[in-house]
Amino acid sequence: MKKRSDSDGKLLLITIDGPAGAGKTTVSRMLSDRLGYKYIDTGALYRGVAWEAKKAGISHDDDAGLEKLCGSLRLEFVRDTNGLHLFSNNSDINGEIRTQEMSMLASSVSARPVVRKYLLILQRELGKGKGAVFEGRDMGTVVFPDADIKFYLNASVKIRAIRRYNELSDKKDSSTLEEIERDIRRRDENDSTRALAPLKPAEEAIKIDSTDLNVESVVNLMISHVQKHLMH
Ligand code: C5P
Repeated sequence: MKKRSDSDGKLLLITIDGPAGAGKTTVSRMLSDRLGYKYIDTGALYRGVAWEAKKAGISHDDDAGLEKLCGSLRLEFVRDTNGLHLFSNNSDINGEIRTQEMSMLASSVSARPVVRKYLLILQRELGKGKGAVFEGRDMGTVVFPDADIKFYLNASVKIRAIRRYNELSDKKDSSTLEEIERDIRRRDENDSTRALAPLKPAEEAIKIDSTDLNVESVVNLMISHVQKHLMH
């Protein structure tokens, strides 16, 4: 891990929004390491709610059921050398939430106002004290409108599908590339057209297209923006 002085001692709150497969998680992890910050994968929180809803037999559109569920949940992150692990009521559910099924279910529950309201409070709580990189869909637009630096990371649908495919095949998920691309297109559509907190860049977001960039290049580019910000 690099020294905290990469951020010059001043703690910033940095947001990275963008669609599935744009590289947000890897980039957030590396950027937070370079800065000595924590990073929060907010998609995991939506996946956590989806997983618990499925386990409890609550449908993705049962608002009363989801509200009651959210009231009883305790979602927490623990970071180790393998990355960030989501715990729900003291159980590590990281393996369970990283499937294609949970991707689609998370996208469905994320459109429900009761779920967004619950997670909005939790995310803002996690952001207190700054020194954090938050990745998601509405970090710069809704959750942290006053963030110090906002990035919007995107890439072509094809390359995003290939990245997700490689990631899932490591986890022995049998989804084909075509299925993943179809699901990504569907999630893009759901996430960007929903009424509440749709996926879109904040007006002042710095847009980065990672189609032809490797992660190191993206992180270096972000670090240069952080340094520029700190000089002003
Ligand atoms: O980032 P990830 O693919 O894990 O997110 C899963 C789903 O959670 C997304 O497709 C999106 O519907 C939802 N989500 C959201 N707002 C966020 C993060 C994720 O609506 N800030």
